[in-house]
Amino acid sequence: MRWSYRIATIAGTDIKVHVTFLLLVGWWALIGYSQAGPAAALTSALALLALFACVVLHEFGHILMARRFGVRTPDVILLPIGGVARLERIPDEPRQELLIALAGPAVTLAIAVVLFLVLRLSGSNADVSELSEHQPFLAFLVTVNIYLLLFNLIPAFPMDGGRVLRALLASRMGLLRGTRIAATLGQTLAVVGGLYGLTRSEPLLVLVAFFVFLGANAEAAAVETRAAGEGLQVRQMMVTDFRTVPVHASLNQAVDLLLSGEQREFPVVDNLGRTEGILTRDNLIRGLSQHGPEATVAEVMTTNVPTVPPTLGFQEALDRLRASRLPALPVVEFGGALVGLLTLDNITDLLLVRRAQR
Ligand SMILES: [Zn+2]
Repeated sequence: MRWSYRIATIAGTDIKVHVTFLLLVGWWALIGYSQAGPAAALTSALALLALFACVVLHEFGHILMARRFGVRTPDVILLPIGGVARLERIPDEPRQELLIALAGPAVTLAIAVVLFLVLRLSGSNADVSELSEHQPFLAFLVTVNIYLLLFNLIPAFPMDGGRVLRALLASRMGLLRGTRIAATLGQTLAVVGGLYGLTRSEPLLVLVAFFVFLGANAEAAAVETRAAGEGLQVRQMMVTDFRTVPVHASLNQAVDLLLSGEQREFPVVDNLGRTEGILTRDNLIRGLSQHGPEATVAEVMTTNVPTVPPTLGFQEALDRLRASRLPALPVVEFGGALVGLLTLDNITDLLLVRRAQR
């Protein structure tokens, strides 16, 4: 997701924060400051950090359960509506998705119960309302975790409730129809919630509704794409009419190639035709400004580029292309021969054609 920044990596998963989450922290601190000065601003910020830790623990509930089913999670993004752990793929069995979706709320419930017990024990016989005066911080965390739990069980993407609903529907009617229904319900809830927030001047509710709407949209799009590409292999998706650039060519020669056609990424090959790397337009432009036109392609190309075999399936190929963060990947046969170029543009075109033909 754009506008999100990595702040840590835990057990192979990047923890990212979306800029709107930071705005929320600032807003919260500002409210504390305006009401009771700098000390209150600090308390507010600390409370938010503790909340943040609870959200991360919740996400690790999902992550560890997903790992049990062999699904990796490249990153977790913290949004104002909570965290979203991005699964590398949707688990094959609806039952697995159900368990992954429930693992997060289970962690949140456990945190709330443990904190409540601590609160109870620390205040001996006092009743709950008195306890919250003694231990406002703990009481706040219990409340927030209960709120998190209830919020996450709302049956709309990207909340866990949406995934639970999709898993239940998918086990009866298949992934595609299950997702469509769950996404439509999520978007309807988002529109109703957003309108309600507008009429009541509740900016936070409008913001939440906005993210719910986007989340439902993204989920539906991902599943539609997966369905549209069902059964395809890389050899059907790749660009076969492309040009390569020799590793010893100068940047000047590469510029001529770039300007002579539509192609923007060029596989870089050695004398024997083996792929050494890839020259992207960005490589070329940066190389020109840093090293000048006489530098060689070898100096500025991207190396250690993952290659894909022509027999690889659609979803796996798409995942690898996205994970590489490169605009194109070379398609290389078992013997090492370069036979094609896998690009997002070409995949998009192919899916459009396939949908039109249905
Ligand atoms: Zn969750």
